[in-house]
Amino acid sequence: MKGHPSPRRRIFRGTASPDDRRRNPYLLLPFEVPQGTKAIGIRYDYDRENNTLDLGLFDPRGHEFPAACGFRGWSGSARDRVVIGEHWATPGYLPGPIYPGTWHVILGLYRVSDSGCDYEVEIELLPEGPTSHPAPVVPEAPESGPHPEGWVKGDLHCHTHHSDAEGSVQEVARAAGEKGLHFLAITDHNTVSQWGEIEVSGGKQSGVVLLPGEEITTYWGHANVWGPGRWLDFRCRHRKDIKAICDLAHGEGRPFSINHPKPNGPAWEFGFDLPFDCIEVWHGLWALGNEHSLRVWEDLLRRGRRAVAVGGSDAHPRFNAQGRLIEWIGRPTTWVWTEGLSAEAILAGIRAGHVSISACPEGPLVSIAVIRGGDTFRQGESCPFAGEAELEVEVWSGEGLELVLVSGRGELARKRVMGNRWQETMPVDLEKEGYVRAELRVPVPASPPGRWPMAALSNPVWYEPFLADKIRDLWRGR
Ligand SMILES: [Zn+2]
Ligand SMILES: [Zn+2]
Repeated sequence: MKGHPSPRRRIFRGTASPDDRRRNPYLLLPFEVPQGTKAIGIRYDYDRENNTLDLGLFDPRGHEFPAACGFRGWSGSARDRVVIGEHWATPGYLPGPIYPGTWHVILGLYRVSDSGCDYEVEIELLPEGPTSHPAPVVPEAPESGPHPEGWVKGDLHCHTHHSDAEGSVQEVARAAGEKGLHFLAITDHNTVSQWGEIEVSGGKQSGVVLLPGEEITTYWGHANVWGPGRWLDFRCRHRKDIKAICDLAHGEGRPFSINHPKPNGPAWEFGFDLPFDCIEVWHGLWALGNEHSLRVWEDLLRRGRRAVAVGGSDAHPRFNAQGRLIEWIGRPTTWVWTEGLSAEAILAGIRAGHVSISACPEGPLVSIAVIRGGDTFRQGESCPFAGEAELEVEVWSGEGLELVLVSGRGELARKRVMGNRWQETMPVDLEKEGYVRAELRVPVPASPPGRWPMAALSNPVWYEPFLADKIRDLWRGR
């Protein structure tokens, strides 16, 4: 690697090899920024057909994993040039002071061909910053109408022009509002520059509550973190690295969710022995490998691991030739039973497991509860009573679908949903079953019931004995 210093321009040329990638897939290129610099332009080039090199930037405040407080942006492989100024930056990058000192370009060696990959990175120090681009005013969509009491619906996973999609936060939120969604998490890859646009909106656009998020996109699996906090480092290579990031998220009270744990998800390769909160059991269209994610989740549930199932469309909106935003936000839709419509209430509902998932914003919605005496235990909650209790299932907009109740021991019952506002009760012994959860499947006469497509999915109600009962059982040697 050779550098050619010049006062205003610096060019790095080098070759990245598969060995480099194995040693450390994140290459740092240091460069000096003198006092008085108002903006930094970066352009890079390489053989894009056979390789994928990602781009990011750290300022002199620090670039060390995991608490790199100098994070200034990430564009993955979505852009070949970016600019960072005091008042404006390319989406994905954070505008702000151009501190004098040593900055680092980071090249992520995502895909490097066997023969290696030649790269050229040109850095330009600019005496004048880009002028701020006033955000275009996006007209508001009408607020959505009534919904089943206590339930709000949204999408926990989508991208904007702050990573590898198109459309501003406002434009994407408007699309969600037009579908009647109440909340939308903006989870761009490895960056938080989208949070600036959320702030400008006052946290709400077209009646849609915007949850700040980040998709921690490592080369060995992806995870979403929602809620306000710090930027979280994505340069995780080992289980201990991702554990450190999970702990940092928890330190800020933010749920950590493993994304698309299925082949080509891309898959999650760090293992599940981590203190994660949620798992994206339903990612995009059900047919795209989600039966695998369901099995991963079921396996965790049977081992007593109470991960909350969530859905995410992972929408990457694009503008078509007519300038219309094409997207699949809300497929699937995640429903949360909450106390109110605010980011905090939605996150609290998710943490509590008060969550159902449906194929699209129109539904269907399935809700379950176990009732014993005067007490009601909703999905995500634990019932401490052994013996017979009443299981109550409610389904909205699900006429003609097949309700499948699944417990810790396997399939518990099947019933056809009769009517669009349907309620059914049946006896259940939770101590025997361990937990109960519900699925709504679309009957396809020609195919076996085990392969019917999913229409909706609930989280389980658990059996969890009182501590006194547990200790009594231990004393009896059970
Ligand atoms: Zn992902
Ligand atoms: Zn994504």
